[in-house]
Amino acid sequence: MLFGGSKRTDATAGGKEGIIGAMTIAWDDAYKRNFIMWKVPRNIRLNDNIVVREDEIAVFYRDGKVLAYLDKPDRYALTSQNAPILGGLIRALSGVKQQAEVYYIQKKVFDGKFGSKQPYQFKDKEFGIVNLRVFGEFRYRVNEPVNFINQFVGTLNYQTSQEVEERIKEQMVLLVYDAIGHLKEKGMGVTELAPNLTNIEQIVLEKSKDHFGMYGIEINKVSGLYINLPEEVQKAVDTRASMQVLGTNYMQYQAGQAMREAAQNPSGTAGAGVGIGAGIGAGYAMIGSMAQAMQPSQTQQPSPQPQGKACIKCGVIIPADAKFCSSCGARQEKIECPNCKAPLPADAKFCSSCGTALGSKKCSNCGVDMPASAKFCPNCGKSV
Ligand SMILES: [Zn+2]
Ligand SMILES: [Zn+2]
Ligand SMILES: [Zn+2]
Repeated sequence: MLFGGSKRTDATAGGKEGIIGAMTIAWDDAYKRNFIMWKVPRNIRLNDNIVVREDEIAVFYRDGKVLAYLDKPDRYALTSQNAPILGGLIRALSGVKQQAEVYYIQKKVFDGKFGSKQPYQFKDKEFGIVNLRVFGEFRYRVNEPVNFINQFVGTLNYQTSQEVEERIKEQMVLLVYDAIGHLKEKGMGVTELAPNLTNIEQIVLEKSKDHFGMYGIEINKVSGLYINLPEEVQKAVDTRASMQVLGTNYMQYQAGQAMREAAQNPSGTAGAGVGIGAGIGAGYAMIGSMAQAMQPSQTQQPSPQPQGKACIKCGVIIPADAKFCSSCGARQEKIECPNCKAPLPADAKFCSSCGTALGSKKCSNCGVDMPASAKFCPNCGKSV
């Protein structure tokens, strides 16, 4: 029935309320569940009875202000006989305005989940505007019932627990956005969000003290934070993570990717629609074969004169110890980086300019070509 499912209304209540109330009001367990708050849908008056249980607080509210609250479990008869105990509350109910609104609040700690409805637009140096969505869990409770009702529920005129809980969760999302914004101002890029989740949780927890304190709400814990990136950005982040495992870098990967796309589109059209994370193995193979193609002297280029070598510029076979090509005059101790074209010593294992691994090796497991610097096979994952 009406009063929060209170089935224990006094006999005097039925139809004879008049000016003097005499109804017992209680927050029935069946209706209580996980609601942080219940606003009693009828004003309370002198002579009503109000039941307060161990796990709840009853707050009396009128004209935008809390009159009093009861947090000790008992059944309170709001009569003038109880004036010495209930003090100001009875005086307030006995005056010109004889009624007050009543809110019940649960004392317990609540576990909640928050999640963004509107994406956060993260302006990243590398990826431009990236729409983020955040999800997480938190624990909270009402620790100051007067502030909670005065500053939060009353000010914003919330009637239901759902409205209150929804608002708290929205505020949590905003705090996360706020923390991300601060980290971004310090130079953090979108790809660094994932390794900073615990850090962000801590910042949010710290900030929640100021933010929610004035509303009488305490946040005890922030956990399980998850930041959802758009698919193409997530792929780039994943790729970069595997790059680090492979001991190479993202620039290098992108260079390989560009070569691969160029190879697939001889007409010169950019490889539209090729996912940024696609074909990592093929990208590596390309780096390897390009390196081979451009360093015929270094690898197994068959030579009619076994003692000789091919000129690094014109390909004419010259003596193995020649420092200059007898045909074109090119210096033989320099090679060119296949990636950035920087001139390099012929025996260089890495480009000193862009870091590209020179030469390639074959995976002992699957036989795929990979950069000499790779620690793991990009095809089969075997440690090499
Ligand atoms: Zn030459
Ligand atoms: Zn280079
Ligand atoms: Zn392999």
